[in-house]
Amino acid sequence: MKNRMSELVTLLNRYAHEYYTKDTPSVSDSEYDQLYRELVSLEEKYPNDILPDSPTHRVGGKVLDGFEKYQHQYPLYSLQDAFSRAELEAFDERVRKEFPEAIYLCELKIDGLSISLSYENGILVAGATRGDGSIGENITENLKRVKDIPLTLPQPLTMTVRGECYMPKASFDEVNRFRQENGEAEFANPRNAAAGTLRQLDTAVVAKRNLSTFLYQEASPTTEVSQESVLKKLSKLGFAVNDNRVLASSIDQVWNFIEKISQERNKLPYEIDGIVIKVNSLAAQEELGFTVKAPKWAIAYKFPAEEKEAKLLSVDWTVGRTGVVTPTANLTPVQLAGTTVSRATLHNVDYIKEKDIRKDDTVIVYKAGDIIPAVLRVVETKRVSEEKLAVPKYCPSCESELLHFEDEVALRCINPLCPAQIREGLIHFASRDAMNITGLGPAVVEKLFSQGLVSDVAGIYRLQVEELLQLENFKEKSANKLYNAIQASRENSAERLLFGLGIRHVGSKASRILLEHFHDIPTLAKADLDTIASIDGLGLVIATSLHSYFEQEGTQTLLAELQEAGVNLAYLGEKVAADAILSGKTVVLTGKLETLTRTQAREKLLRLGANVASSVSKKTDLVIAGADAGSKLAKAQELGIEIQNEEWLEQL
Ligand code: AMP
Ligand code: ZN
Repeated sequence: MKNRMSELVTLLNRYAHEYYTKDTPSVSDSEYDQLYRELVSLEEKYPNDILPDSPTHRVGGKVLDGFEKYQHQYPLYSLQDAFSRAELEAFDERVRKEFPEAIYLCELKIDGLSISLSYENGILVAGATRGDGSIGENITENLKRVKDIPLTLPQPLTMTVRGECYMPKASFDEVNRFRQENGEAEFANPRNAAAGTLRQLDTAVVAKRNLSTFLYQEASPTTEVSQESVLKKLSKLGFAVNDNRVLASSIDQVWNFIEKISQERNKLPYEIDGIVIKVNSLAAQEELGFTVKAPKWAIAYKFPAEEKEAKLLSVDWTVGRTGVVTPTANLTPVQLAGTTVSRATLHNVDYIKEKDIRKDDTVIVYKAGDIIPAVLRVVETKRVSEEKLAVPKYCPSCESELLHFEDEVALRCINPLCPAQIREGLIHFASRDAMNITGLGPAVVEKLFSQGLVSDVAGIYRLQVEELLQLENFKEKSANKLYNAIQASRENSAERLLFGLGIRHVGSKASRILLEHFHDIPTLAKADLDTIASIDGLGLVIATSLHSYFEQEGTQTLLAELQEAGVNLAYLGEKVAADAILSGKTVVLTGKLETLTRTQAREKLLRLGANVASSVSKKTDLVIAGADAGSKLAKAQELGIEIQNEEWLEQL
C-alpha cells in the first residue's frame, strides 16, 4: 500500500502543478478527484504512512494557536526606490562605474508580501514571512495551503527560495464582496488581503482564498551565474516564476519595458506596483554588495499612483438595503487604471463635508486595484462656485424624511416600507451567500418588483411559471429554470435564510453560529436577549438587533408564510462535503416511513449530499420507498432506477 500511496502522491502533485502553476492540466477534474479520493481512503486506513508531501496537507483546517518566530538563515532585503527616469539613470551610473558592461534583468514588482521557503532533501520544511528581514513568522502550515507552492521538489535539494505571495485580483474582488455582504470591513487592496490571509490562524481560510506566488530568488548559495538562470532553474523545479521579464543593456531599454508594462498593467490578473531592475550577473551582484538595508545591485521603479482630475457634474443618492443613503459622483469621463470612469463613490454625507466638496468642483479620482473608483479630494485652485452640494432631506425612493444619526456618518431612510430598501433586500435575499437563487439577480428582481409580482421575500415562493413568462426576455426554458431554482432554494439550510432576511448586524457567520446553537429559526425567535448575547462570537449588538427584528409586527407573518411555502427553517448541519456519499445524486422519498419522519429523512439525505426531489423522472438516481408506496415507486421500477428502503438509509 505504501507504494500505491507514494505513486498517488507523485501523480497528484504533478497534476496539481500542471493545473495551478502551468495552467495546462493533463487530466480531467474527475480523474483527479478519483485519484485524490483513493489517496484519502488509503491515508485513513494507514495513517502512519501518510507522506509529508501528500496533497491532502493542502486542504482541511487546523486552527493554530499563533505563529512562532522564525530566524532566517539568510536575511531578506528591501529595495532602493526610484520614482523617475533620472533616479534610474543615477543608479545606472553607480553600477557602470564598477561594471561598465552591466546587463539588467527587469522583473515585475509583485504587490504581495515576501515569503521564504526552505526545502530539505527536496521536501518543504518551513515557510516564513519576512518580518524585519532577520526574524519573521513561521507560517508553514498556511503556505502549504497555497496551491502553487511545491511541497516537494523533483530533486532532493536543500535550498531556501524567496518570492512574493499575492492574491489575484479576481480572488480579491470575491473576498471583498463576501466581506461586504457580511458587514465586515473590506480589505483596502490585494496586498492587505494576502497579508491578512497568511496571518489567519484557521488554515482552512487560507486554502479557500486562492493565494498564488511568484518566486524570484535562491537565497541559499547557488551555482547559477545569473538572475535569469536562477529563474529558469526555479521554474524547472516547479516553482511559479513570472515570465514577464526582459534583459536590458541600457536604461533606454529598461524604460521601454517600464512603459510597455505601464500600458498592460491593468490587464494583468494580479497587482504590481513597479518594476525591479537587477544586475543580471550574480558575480557582479556580489561585488557590488549591500548598503545597510538594500542591495546596491537592484532598484525598484515605483509606478505613480493612478489618479486623475475630473469635473463633478452631479451627485446621485441611492438607498441601500439597510436604508443608508449613499452619494455617487457623476464625473466628466476619465481614463483610469485601464477603464473609463464616469462615476465614483463619495462614500457618505460626512465625507462630503470633511473634504469640503462643492458644486462643480474639480476633483481627484483614484482607483486602487479593481476597487470602485472614489473621489479623493478637491482641487481647490480650480473651484468655480462656492455653493455647497445639496444634501437631500427626503428619501429619493419613498420621500420620507431622512435622518442623520449622531453616531453615524450616513444618512438613513428609516421607513420600513421604502421601495428601494425592499428591492435591495430582495436582491440580497437571492444572492449567493444568502439563498443562492441562480437567475434571480438584480435585474430580474427589479422587474419582478416594479411589475408588482413580488413585494416581499415570501412572494418569491408564490411566483408561478406563467408569471415569470410575463417578464421581458423570458421563454419557457428560462422561466422553468428560474422557477426550479426558487423551489430548490427551499431546501437550503436555514442559516442562509436567516442571513437572507437582512437583519442588521447579522452576517452569514453570525447566522451560522445562531443556528448551530438554536437549530431552527422559530426557536431562535423565542430566545431571550441574554442567551443570544452570551454566545461565543455574537454579543449584545447582534442580540438586540435580532430581538427587535423578531418583535416587529410582520416578522411572524413573514416566517409563517415562508414555512407555508415549504421553505426550510431548520439548520441542516455542516456544509456537506463534496465527497459526501450521495453527493450530486437526486433522491425521491415515497411511501410511509416507520422510524424517521419525512423531515428527518429529508434532512439526512441533504446532509449526505443528495438533492431531494418530489417526483420521479429520468434524472432521479435513487428512490427511498416506505410502506404503501404507490405510483412513484411504480414509475421508478419502470425507469430502472435504484430503489432502497428506510433501513438502508438509516445505515448510511
Ligand atoms: P519595498 O517593500 O518597496 O522595499 O520593496 C521590496 C519588496 O519588493 C521585497 O521585499 C519583495 O517582497 C518585493 N518584490 C516584489 N517583486 C519582486 C521582485 N521581482 N524582485 C524582488 N523583490 C520583489
Ligand atoms: Zn425611503
